[in-house]
This record gives sequence, structure tokens and C-alpha cells, in this order.
Amino acid sequence: MPSVMWFRRDLRLGDNPALLEACASEAVLPLFVLDPRLWLPAGPSRRAHLVASLRSLDAGLGELGGRLQVVEGDPRTCVVAAAREVGAEQVHVAADFGPYGRQRDHDVEEALAEHGIGLVRTGSPYAVAPGRVTSGSGDPYKVFTPFSKAWLDHGWRDPVEAPTSASWLTLADTALLLEDLPETEVPEGVRLPEAGEPAARRRWQEFLDEGLASYGEDRNRPDLDGTSRMSVHLKWGEIHPRTLLADLSARLADPETETGAKTYRTELAWREFYADVLFARPETAREYLRPEFARMDYDDPSGPAAADLEAWRTGHTGFPVVDAGMRQLRGTGWMHNRVRMIVASFLVKDLHLEWQLGARHFMHWLVDGDLASNQHGWQWTAGSGTDASPFFRVFNPTGQGRRFDPDGAYVRHWVPELANVADAHDPSPEERDAVGYPPPIVDHAEERKEALTRWERIRR
Ligand code: FAD
Repeated sequence: MPSVMWFRRDLRLGDNPALLEACASEAVLPLFVLDPRLWLPAGPSRRAHLVASLRSLDAGLGELGGRLQVVEGDPRTCVVAAAREVGAEQVHVAADFGPYGRQRDHDVEEALAEHGIGLVRTGSPYAVAPGRVTSGSGDPYKVFTPFSKAWLDHGWRDPVEAPTSASWLTLADTALLLEDLPETEVPEGVRLPEAGEPAARRRWQEFLDEGLASYGEDRNRPDLDGTSRMSVHLKWGEIHPRTLLADLSARLADPETETGAKTYRTELAWREFYADVLFARPETAREYLRPEFARMDYDDPSGPAAADLEAWRTGHTGFPVVDAGMRQLRGTGWMHNRVRMIVASFLVKDLHLEWQLGARHFMHWLVDGDLASNQHGWQWTAGSGTDASPFFRVFNPTGQGRRFDPDGAYVRHWVPELANVADAHDPSPEERDAVGYPPPIVDHAEERKEALTRWERIRR
């Protein structure tokens, strides 16, 4: 009997167990549903990346003789209609563990069942599926280090090969042509990473050859190209973490890459940890994981703080490293991890605004915008998350900038007004004036005290 391969966050042919399952059937319909619930809140950069990635997937399928069929609408109706049209008995997917995806899949499964069609989940976007690693008492882990140890002990399967052949199906006339997808133009000057499985594999190989050995030392330096930039490819499933983990384990025996490989594996464990946390506590996509933080005094973003929020969003706070990060976000759809922490801390602890405001802005602009890593990255920095950085540890943006961007090269690149000032992390009032760069919108020392006062109130 025919089947459907419903692609979602797994836009690849290699190491895709659900696709292999689908290809084992008599004929396969490769389907992507453009779901307005996910499309509309995404910003221009993420939309553009998605469309480019779908085109790349279509080209890959083309080499095997297939064409990706794209339909637009609510999956609850679209998937059922497509499956019925081709007479499918099964719809194959990689399981989704996010709050919306789980509910959507549950509803689609019920709708398919009414027509005798099964929804078959094989694999997930993770090396170890959320909910699988639990503590001795069977509860989810709340702290990263024990989770990562248990995750490593649990282990994962080896990658699987890409399908070599299949008999492909198409829809009669309901499918959108990939050329006709909605407008995806990015604002002028924005440079996005290349999308698609071949680009992901090329970038990964380049990182293995040139970046892994120094990753342990360079990963905190936004002025260096010291990280892998794989987050965007992982977000869209253009490559699977298991593929990365298999390559890393092959480099553990080499003294030159051993430290980098172990450190990188730990970073991937953070991604899996946050997915696990969100799976256990889906409400934390919006609510404080530590509820006492909801009682803290925050400034009203529609009141006098509105101008500060806008300065933060557009990169005009007068704090060079914060502004560099916020401009890198808009300019590339990506921001270095260290700088994500600095700008997040600034929003919550210097401007006294709630983390959700920043998380929403990130989700709009980030090409790698991932609900679990983003919301929990924010909550960690805000002090309200699992295993969080303690609230009293308030980042000093100038000190952080000097430490991790010692020559100011990162700031000078993203804040070109400061290209020629003596100290890019602390330009003098005269220099600011001369180049048209704003004075700091707040006094960091004062706001640090204010943040700690507000925190003391909720501790009592
Ligand atoms: P590398 O240093 O090369 O790391 C390799 C991989 O490990 C990454 O691709 C990512 O999958 C994973 N990883 C590394 N650090 C983290 C981390 N702290 N948390 C979770 N996974 C991690 N990551 C996202 O993928 N999407 C997001 O929306 C996102 N939002 C964030 C928001 C905030 C406030 C913070 C502090 C962090 C956020 N992160 C997010 C985590 C991290 O910043 C990015 O994964 C990383 O910067 C991606 O660049 P890279 O691939 O070059 O990282």
C-alpha cells in the first residue's frame, strides 16, 4: 500500500529513519504542509530559510525521481486529504515533542484514524527522545549535569543511510509549486546561512576539519569564527544530531580533537536537556519555570520602558556589545551564544523587563529559533529556569565585552560607528558624540542594585 512521508523539522534524506520506513512501502508521497500557525509568527529570515531548505529537499528528492509536494493549511485537514487522495495506509513522521507539535499530531492521528489511516512515528529531532532519560525515581531531571551523564549512559543509535530508491507519488492539483510559495523576501542587507542538507554537511565537515580542535578554547569568543553554526541546520533537521555525535565519537581517540569533541557533545546535550525540560513542563514555553519569579516587579513595556525596549531591539542601547549582538541577530538570523546571554541578561536585569518579551523578539528574528532552547536559554539567563544562573550574578556588559571580545573586533564589525574609537567597549562621551553613537541608556551599576532589590523582595 502507498504511504505518506510528512516532513516537518526533518528536511533531509540522510539519517532519516521515518523516511526509510516510508520508502519501504509500495509508493511514497513526500509532503510538507505550510501551517499558518507556524508560518505567520516566523520572521522574514526564518521563512526565507525554510523556503530555501524546502527547495533543497526537493532537489535531493529530484535526484531520486521524486518531487516534494507542498500544501498550505491546517495539517488536521491537509494531511488527511493528501493521504486519502493517494490511498495511503500510513503517514510516516519523526515524532514532535514540542507543545504545539504534540497536540497537532494527536489531532491529526485521530482524524486519520477515522479513515483507517495510521500515523507512524519513527525517530525524533534528538539523539535521545525527550522523556526517555529519567532519574532513579523515574522523574525528569531538573539539573543539567546529572541529565547529561544519564544521557551519555543511555546512548543512541547509529545513523542510517539515505534511501537509494522509491516509487514517488504526487498530488493531482492541490499542491503548491515550490516556486509559488508565499513572499519570503528578507530585509535589505540581511545575509542568511545557506540552507539545506548539502550545505549542512559541508559546514559540518569544515568545522570538523578546521574548528573542532580549538572549539573548547574559542567557543566563547564572538570575535572568532569558533563555533559550528550548526544550530540552524539542527533546527530544521537538515542534519541529525546522531550524525554529528557519530563523527565526534570517531574523533575522541585523537588527542588533538578529544577535548573539542567532548565539549561539543556537552553542548548538544544542552539542546537535548532543554527539549526534555519543555516536554516535562510544556507550560514553561510561556510561564516562569520557577513560579516565584512571576511575582517579581517588572517594568511595563508599554510605559516609559517602551523606548528602552526599542533601543534594545534595534541595537541602540549605548552598550557596544549589546548593540553588536542585536544587530548581528537582525543581520544574519543568528547570534553568538555568549552574546545571547549578555543581551538577555541586559533586558531582564538592566531594563527590568520580562524574559518573554526578549524571547519573542528572538523567535521572530532567529533562523535557528527553537522553542525549547530559546525559552529555556532565556529562563536560564533570567534566573527563573532549570538549573539557572543565580539571579544575583548580573552580567556587566562592558566587562563581558572586554573579556570575550578583547580587541573589540566583534563590536567594530557590527557597530561600524565604533570602528575607529580607542576602546570599542567603552567609548568616551566625546567619541560617542562625534560618531553619532548614543550614550548608555541606563547606569549599569544602578540597575544592578535595583535588580537585586527587586529580587530580595521575592525571596522573602
Ligand atoms: P555551537 O557552539 O557550535 O554548539 C553546537 C550545538 O550545540 C548548537 O548548534 C546547539 O544545537 C547546541 N547548543 C550549544 N549551546 C547551547 C545552549 N546553550 N542551549 C541549547 N543548545 C545549545 N539555540 C538554538 O538552537 N535555538 C534558539 O532559539 C536558541 N536561543 C537561545 C536564546 C538564549 C537567550 C540563549 C542564551 C541561548 C540560545 N540558544 C539557542 C543556544 C545557543 O546560543 C545556540 O545554540 C548557539 O549559539 C548556536 O550556535 P552554534 O551552532 O555555532 O553553536
